[in-house]
Amino acid sequence: MTSIPNQQQAAVVQEPGDNFKIQLHDDVPVGTPGPEEILVKLTCTGLCHSEVRAVLAWSSYQSIIGHEGVGTVVKTGANVSPSLLGQRVGVKWLYNACSNCSLCKRGFHHNCPNQVNTSRHVPGTLQQYAIADARFITRIPEGLSDETAAPLLCAGLTMMGALKHLDTELHPGDWIVISGSGGGLGHLGVQIAARVKKLRVIAIDSGEDKRKLSLESGAEVFLDFKTEDVAAQVLKLTGEGAHATIVVPGTKEALQMAPLVVRNMATIVCVGLPPNQMDIPVSATLCAARGLTIKGSSVGTEAQLQDLLQLASDGVITPAVEVFDFPEVPRLIDQLIKDEIIGRAVVRIPAN
Ligand SMILES: [Zn+2]
Ligand SMILES: [Zn+2]
Repeated sequence: MTSIPNQQQAAVVQEPGDNFKIQLHDDVPVGTPGPEEILVKLTCTGLCHSEVRAVLAWSSYQSIIGHEGVGTVVKTGANVSPSLLGQRVGVKWLYNACSNCSLCKRGFHHNCPNQVNTSRHVPGTLQQYAIADARFITRIPEGLSDETAAPLLCAGLTMMGALKHLDTELHPGDWIVISGSGGGLGHLGVQIAARVKKLRVIAIDSGEDKRKLSLESGAEVFLDFKTEDVAAQVLKLTGEGAHATIVVPGTKEALQMAPLVVRNMATIVCVGLPPNQMDIPVSATLCAARGLTIKGSSVGTEAQLQDLLQLASDGVITPAVEVFDFPEVPRLIDQLIKDEIIGRAVVRIPAN
């Protein structure tokens, strides 16, 4: 095994806010794992739309962002089994959780009020060496490439978690509307809904590339929200409206559309993360009168992630990934802000 340097390359966010900059540095100190931690030499990381929240300072984040990293364990802390050395692991949003609260005890560590998050509380994955908590690490199954595994760690898991909320009320053949269907999360949601849950998917997004990806991912119908009357089309297709909808974009327009595309007693699952001060623009009277349920969902459980990695290993779930070199990070973040990325952008981390 090659020796671990003291300094490393990293993409660093400076002056988060309207005038943010991302600079590539080659003198960022390499961390030392604490007793329960491991040091992971990363090969790649996915770029999540929530990086936008970090660079635009919608909330406070670390200067090194990223939370879809894949790499190899190169150092273990005092209490960690050395058998982890050389293992391929994922470094994800959930760094760790308290394991003592009522939610952790039910297995919902990702909803723990005391959770620590990669890129928010501890440095993220846009660096060569990341520190992770060995108790919360995700093993990557053999036969799954690093680049394919990366987007499953947040984007894929988020859609697994969102669809899990609908398991008791949806049945194969039911209609679901997924908005933002051509992005990193959306296209994986379409795949899980269509290929795993056997739902009939109406995909909503805009533009030819996103139409193509949505249909390839298993959507039965694609509607372009910029050129079509989405609500009228959904009603025509489904009779009474869809049985549920997942709202991926964190936009007012997408949230306002949600009640218009579902039938009475449907569930609306909110996934996207708009600025914190934005409220859900949906009438409370309408929710009550129509018996609608609005639910929030964020990432998912480790068991759901393992199921998803297995589905990808088996070729059922096929993330649409484009791999870029590390110096392209600043441009890619700009494109994320402008909503120009099709599927998932994954960045190759320099080996040395
Ligand atoms: Zn994410
Ligand atoms: Zn907890």
